[in-house]
Amino acid sequence: MGDVFFVPVSNGEDPSGVAKKVKYLYDHSRAGDRFKKGDFIAVKTHFGESTNTTHIKPVIVKVIIDKLKQAGTLPFLTETSTLYKGKRSNALDHTALAVEHGFGFDKMRVPLIMADGLFGDDETPVEINGKHFNKVNIAAQIAKVQGVMVISHFTGHMGTGFGGAIKNTGMGLASRRGKLKQHSTLSPQIDTGACNACGMCLEWCPQDTISMVDGKAYIHNENCIGCGECLAVCKFSAVRFNWGRESRVLQEMMAEHSAGVIKAVKGKIFYFNFLINITKNCDCMNGGRAVSDDIGIIAGRDIVAVEKASYDIFMKVNNMNITEAASYSIDSLFQVKHAEYLGLGNSDYRFCEL
Ligand code: SF4
Ligand code: SF4
Repeated sequence: MGDVFFVPVSNGEDPSGVAKKVKYLYDHSRAGDRFKKGDFIAVKTHFGESTNTTHIKPVIVKVIIDKLKQAGTLPFLTETSTLYKGKRSNALDHTALAVEHGFGFDKMRVPLIMADGLFGDDETPVEINGKHFNKVNIAAQIAKVQGVMVISHFTGHMGTGFGGAIKNTGMGLASRRGKLKQHSTLSPQIDTGACNACGMCLEWCPQDTISMVDGKAYIHNENCIGCGECLAVCKFSAVRFNWGRESRVLQEMMAEHSAGVIKAVKGKIFYFNFLINITKNCDCMNGGRAVSDDIGIIAGRDIVAVEKASYDIFMKVNNMNITEAASYSIDSLFQVKHAEYLGLGNSDYRFCEL
């Protein structure tokens, strides 16, 4: 049974107050216990897309970094390049955005090192015993460090229902090839009745695989990588994925890439899930409407327990699960069940409120 630790946070608490709570949570959850003096620790968080304001703030992440430094480890901030075009699709744009959002060395006092190189193709294959893969592709630097600290913003997500520790680890620490493999089964279609030919999806598609045919957008699926960018930018809900069929596979593949990361660092990994500013969408875009009051922070060393406890407490507070609150028709627990099936943890957790 995995232990999870929880501190509540109320609406309107300022980031410095939340940071104090994180310090307390770090100590009581013994977050740093598995890391030794001199270990290189990759601190994975999400710096937020250029339009996002609800991502986890630097002052909060810094508390965790300072704790790691006090223990004599060698932490650094890390991220990977996205598939979609935005401001996070290569190391230069991504690190510039991180600095703009307050994650530069001047504020954080640790470097930011992209784990997958300049263009997202610096990778290491890791063998796993999965249902979909026997080898997953993770960011190369993750296979070289001694530990990982995963700091995740728990939000709704259009493809997986919600995103938390499994998404931040499995997708967020995969190389470009790893991300492509996870999206490979996704196949968007245009609802021509809803398309008003605004052209936004053509502009943003990283594969240039959408064109206008008879005055409507048309996706040439043979070149599509399933990144979902067309869905994100279409203001007219004209892009459709069959999430009922495709989300389960995406979630399971994400869990399998998490398995690769966990194996690469020999289980020396710890998770913080922040259930604050919980939005309909993830930090890869403007989060959209809030779907809950602030709830708190969950921490633990078991990815399955942390994720299931986050899902459960959301349900308890809101009387509905996060995908219902975010108006997605997705069963989002496939990722948790598959992570458990892979032996990454236990959904039967002990909940310790601090
Ligand atoms: S963004 Fe939406 S409305 Fe605009 S062209 Fe693409 S599918 Fe049509
Ligand atoms: S058509 Fe495919 S590759 Fe292009 S934006 Fe949509 S999902 Fe991404």
